[in-house]
Amino acid sequence: MTGSTTCSHAQNGSPTARVIQSGFTLVELLVVVSIITLLISILLPSVGKARKSAQRVVCASNQRQIAAAVASYIASNDDWMNPVEDWWPLGDGRVEVTFRVILFPYVGSVPQIFDCPSERVYKYADGFSNADERRAIALGGPSTADRENWDRLFGIVHPLERWNFGGIGIAGVHWFRKNPPDLLTRKKTMPFGRAVESGYYEGLKKYAEIKAPTRLIWFGDGAGDDTLAKWGSDNGWWIRSPASDYSQGDPGFNRVLQNDYGCRRHSNKANYVFADGHVELLDANRIPCNEDQCWWSILPYVHRPRTVAVWKEPL
Ligand SMILES: [Zn+2]
Repeated sequence: MTGSTTCSHAQNGSPTARVIQSGFTLVELLVVVSIITLLISILLPSVGKARKSAQRVVCASNQRQIAAAVASYIASNDDWMNPVEDWWPLGDGRVEVTFRVILFPYVGSVPQIFDCPSERVYKYADGFSNADERRAIALGGPSTADRENWDRLFGIVHPLERWNFGGIGIAGVHWFRKNPPDLLTRKKTMPFGRAVESGYYEGLKKYAEIKAPTRLIWFGDGAGDDTLAKWGSDNGWWIRSPASDYSQGDPGFNRVLQNDYGCRRHSNKANYVFADGHVELLDANRIPCNEDQCWWSILPYVHRPRTVAVWKEPL
């Protein structure tokens, strides 16, 4: 009986019950909502900023680890630096692989180290992704029928590894494939060449050949997803020019002028790791490639005319 009495009391609408039922007026609710909206608008950009700066830091860390991997490679290969690409035996034949496969054991077999976390489409760690596949087919590469063979990517040489477009880029700006017109002045450009015996004039280099390790870029943010169909088959993972003039060793290479998205990856700048292992966040416009110095070349003064007296470098 006591319970029913209480119930009827409340239903009769005592002053106390009415106050509880209308705890918030419409105006108060609107104020609360607008404050929450304001807080979100203040917090969201800083959350975005925090995410971006975390990506930049992880990218720099990955590049440091790749540089450490190169150092380990050098230590166990008589001072020779790794090739940018190489032919590896597979079955009865051979396949062309990039530096990632070559350095893979030296990064603790962790494929994510070869990626900048800000890249969304072309991630090396994704293996041969759908985006890669579409692009490779557009370039006349492997067909979808080959997909069944794409399960041996990491640690084991994969026949299609070179078609993976993602990843942190290796420095190979002044690259030439054929006999350059002036061997003496143009041979020592790329830090990571290819064996002359296999037909490449930009040969392999020893670490001791680097004149200024603090001013030689080894790796940087790769071009990634903005380079569609523009750079041919070697793309995000290779920092170089699609134009033949710079590839033939002329000064003036600038990723901004090349409209290379990779150089704007981190707030209009990009990370670069140098041959001494330090990382810098750089505006591509401020990377020298002129007659005084070139941060892309083994010889810092590689573009200097041969008439200059300092040029005594033997082959
Ligand atoms: Zn240069």
